[in-house]
Amino acid sequence: VDVIASSLRVAEQVSGERLDAALRHLAGFGARSDGGVARLALGAEHVAARRWLIGEASALGADARMDAAGNLFLTLPGSDPTLAPVVTGSHVDSQPTGGRYDGALGVLSGLEVLRAVREAGVQPRRALTLVDWSNEEGVRFAPGTMGSAVYCGVRGLDETRAVRDPDGIDYGSAVDACRDALGDLLGAPYPLGAPLHAFIELHIEQGPVLEAAGAAIGVVNGIQGVRWFEIGVHGRSSHAGTTPRAARRDAVEAACALAVALRAETIDEADVTRFTIGRFLVSPGAVNTIAEEVRFTVDLRHPDAGTLAAIGARLERLCARTWAGCTVRLTELSASAPAVFPAAMTALLDQAAGELGMHAPRLVSGAFHDALHVARHCDTGMVFVRSNEGLSHHPAEFTALDDAVAGTRLLAAGLTRLCLR
Ligand SMILES: [Zn+2]
Repeated sequence: VDVIASSLRVAEQVSGERLDAALRHLAGFGARSDGGVARLALGAEHVAARRWLIGEASALGADARMDAAGNLFLTLPGSDPTLAPVVTGSHVDSQPTGGRYDGALGVLSGLEVLRAVREAGVQPRRALTLVDWSNEEGVRFAPGTMGSAVYCGVRGLDETRAVRDPDGIDYGSAVDACRDALGDLLGAPYPLGAPLHAFIELHIEQGPVLEAAGAAIGVVNGIQGVRWFEIGVHGRSSHAGTTPRAARRDAVEAACALAVALRAETIDEADVTRFTIGRFLVSPGAVNTIAEEVRFTVDLRHPDAGTLAAIGARLERLCARTWAGCTVRLTELSASAPAVFPAAMTALLDQAAGELGMHAPRLVSGAFHDALHVARHCDTGMVFVRSNEGLSHHPAEFTALDDAVAGTRLLAAGLTRLCLR
């Protein structure tokens, strides 16, 4: 089998018309009147969308299975059933004020690749699996990327099944209800953590980099790491009118100075480090009382683990000092190490883009994706597709069909190469 010729043949079979129709159809599940979608994880709209997806994939000869974490796997069998599958996909759950493309494009581009493989008459050696990872958004059940985290052993199944939504329904019951609703369409449960040969996720960029570069698609180097901190600044409250400056221990004065110093510590010339103070709570919060306490958060991100650790250490040193007579306590709320995708996967996508005559610059993912966890489990890569104005998690989120088709062609070429080896 000529692997490259086959991969180009499959890429050629990718149909923009079909992809567009699928995007429109999926957007009907949980459609909002403003053109966006609200399709919360494992809710009625998500289950209905899955029923439709299973129907589409089954028509191509794929079998449908769910795992105990609620992930849905749609598999075209390979000629050698002893080999681990090549996997693509993303998520079809959305934010409550979500758009039509976040996650959805990754699943529908995968579905279009299954169709293109069939139309091209290529028989994959390895099975080709399309996955809808469960609860990526983390809105109904927190945190996000839950399904892929459990599949890859990053989270425990039992603790995850016990997570409750705002109505008190636990995740386990929601998974069971989804399985019951789809029961007639599903095969035997997919084993959690079963080996995967490789995973490629296509996703909208959700940022402005590709648009600024004038590129429709890009190859993702990895996903930056994140550390969340809460910083408590403790002073003493007293009367705003009677307390002279020398006698004050003003938590707001201290917190503002500290916040400026922390921010200055994270400024790099290349503008890679992301530093955000997104919450700043003052107590008691009275107009005429000096603040006793300020609690604020820091969201710190960087693609390099060593740099992320070094910046974190510098922030800790600043917090160990006394500011305006106030003491500071820094607590790390959560940490997620960066993922660097293996060179074999990025190079494969670079080569496939070259053969397709596509310009696909490299970039780092600023947002979390299921691929972050899957990268711990098997060789993983990502394709990004240009987002209009970098907008996402918004009903007006938009990606041009031509860009989506370009990304799907690259995905098709990459997956076909992997499936034939
Ligand atoms: Zn997403």
